[in-house]
Amino acid sequence: MSSSGCRIWAWMIIGVLLVSFDVSAQRRTKKKPAAPAPPPPTELSKLRENFINATKEYKGSLGKLVPFYENDVKKAEDKVEQSKKLLAEGLIPKSQLEENERALTAARQKLAETNRAMSGADDQIAGVLVEAAANDEIAKNLRLAKQSLVRTAAFTRYTGASGWSLTDAWKVQRFFSDTFKKQLPIAVFGQGAIHDRWRLDHHNAMDIQLHPDGPEGRALLEFLQKNGIPYLAFRSAIPGTATGPHIHIGRPSHRY
Ligand SMILES: [Zn+2]
Repeated sequence: MSSSGCRIWAWMIIGVLLVSFDVSAQRRTKKKPAAPAPPPPTELSKLRENFINATKEYKGSLGKLVPFYENDVKKAEDKVEQSKKLLAEGLIPKSQLEENERALTAARQKLAETNRAMSGADDQIAGVLVEAAANDEIAKNLRLAKQSLVRTAAFTRYTGASGWSLTDAWKVQRFFSDTFKKQLPIAVFGQGAIHDRWRLDHHNAMDIQLHPDGPEGRALLEFLQKNGIPYLAFRSAIPGTATGPHIHIGRPSHRY
């Protein structure tokens, strides 16, 4: 993505954050904010800067790998071609060709995964940012911290009973596949490289790509509450994209 694309993205997210932060601000002042947005609090400028940098760095680091992986694919292809000839001449066993073919498949997969990660980087980083902002809001807001079930414009949070562990994920997966006859759409399972970068603890959590107000999302939240499983459901994080809405199962990812 170009740097101007990044900027547009970042401002979209800031807009969303401003809207969610405004909910509490409006309650205090009962006034609409003036037309030009007030200078954002330091925290927001930090988030914006972090988002731009994280997106650039993450895509940059992946982008550097692509030529190497492309080269690996080329080399593996040559090796397969060569071993086909050698096999035809009876100079190598068939197992040798098969081994080289497996190596080629692995090299192609690595390249495809990297390309996928690059195209999904914005989504992943936006998801992490939205969770970080919600976590900060909960930490600062006593009303949110005290209630076991709370719904704001941006998210619904349920604190659940103690004892949730990601090793119980199968229970959620089984409920979902039994009910909807398809796999639970897990977008993130446990800690990822992006969480490390943001110093967010996501070890004991997973993100489900479902809108919390859709039929499947609603059924899932109901199941989680019935079973005392904590969650944070995001409904409209980034308007106009499919990015924002998701259900985070587990406690809010705190910073470490
Ligand atoms: Zn999450």
